[in-house]
Amino acid sequence: MQITVLAGGVGGARFTRGLLAALPHDGHDGSDGRSQVTVVGNTGDDITLVGLRVCPDLDTLLYTLGGAVDEAQGWGRADETTEVAGELAALGVGPEWFTLGDRDLATHLARTRWLAQGLTLSQVTERLAARWGLPQQGVRLLPATDTPIETHVVVDDDEGGEQALHFQEWWVRHHAALPAHRFTVAGLAQASAAPQVLDAIRSADLVLLPPSNPVVSIGIILGVPGVREALRGTRAPVVGVSPLLGGRPVRGHADACLRPLGVEVSAAGVAGLYADFLDGWLVDTADDPATADYPSGLRVRSLDLLMRDQEGAARLAGAALELGRELLGATAGRG
Ligand code: GDP
Ligand code: CA
Repeated sequence: MQITVLAGGVGGARFTRGLLAALPHDGHDGSDGRSQVTVVGNTGDDITLVGLRVCPDLDTLLYTLGGAVDEAQGWGRADETTEVAGELAALGVGPEWFTLGDRDLATHLARTRWLAQGLTLSQVTERLAARWGLPQQGVRLLPATDTPIETHVVVDDDEGGEQALHFQEWWVRHHAALPAHRFTVAGLAQASAAPQVLDAIRSADLVLLPPSNPVVSIGIILGVPGVREALRGTRAPVVGVSPLLGGRPVRGHADACLRPLGVEVSAAGVAGLYADFLDGWLVDTADDPATADYPSGLRVRSLDLLMRDQEGAARLAGAALELGRELLGATAGRG
């Protein structure tokens, strides 16, 4: 089975790791009967800091799937040190609100060097994925686009006007506490989907949306020209997992991202953002379809959506696979 996943950072990475655990890989003829998983990662969070290109969501995916993530934090490297960041601070260089760990810095140095040598972000990401053993797990990681894009958040400035902050500054430095008027994505108009992205959606057997942020993670991927059309056109069922449980994000500030869009902060509100291509939707038991208004035609299943640990993530991914297989049966021949 070919599975394509559109992922942000922590929510996307934890779900994808659960997916790999949930997929049967017991090719009985001894050959590799494994499913192929293509992960399309959000690049709207990308930022250049102290001259280095940092791709937070791709890195979270790499470290999590590579078994090197700081589990408690959900991002960054386990057993990380911050000697270089300390020295940079002493030199008055670099933003103090963004953590650049020593091991993590090697990733950014390598990426920046390879980009400077003319490699595309896709090619760079392929090299990093090899470092973390993703191909051996049947995983291909693709940035949504090779064109540099950056999500900006428009907020009030001090003079009664507006200013645009880089998403990371709004999220990490201000904890999304400055009310957002809107989100814009610099570079998106000139962007095109990275090689294989659209094909991975169109030719998939199943497309999964992890419980990633619907606005600044999945919403950015959906904005890359062609992606939304590919989702509408694919024969594969598209199954998503709500990032909101009982109207609240598990972590992060998805609520602060949905409000400026005028979207209800609920599992039903998020489903509405995907209504033109979504076939199946997993919601928490607190958001039972009997009590909420989901888009018509959507197959909604409720279960405990919390990924408490890796087993919990595998259980959640297993439920998404099951709903996908059910829809696959129902839509066979629909093409
Ligand atoms: P980020 O880029 O690191 O912010 O991560 P993502 O965009 O991939 O995911 C963030 C979203 O994941 C947030 O809106 C959370 O509510 C959601 N999330 C985190 N943990 C869980 C969980 O255990 N279950 C569910 N259903 N959602 C979760
Ligand atoms: Ca992110």
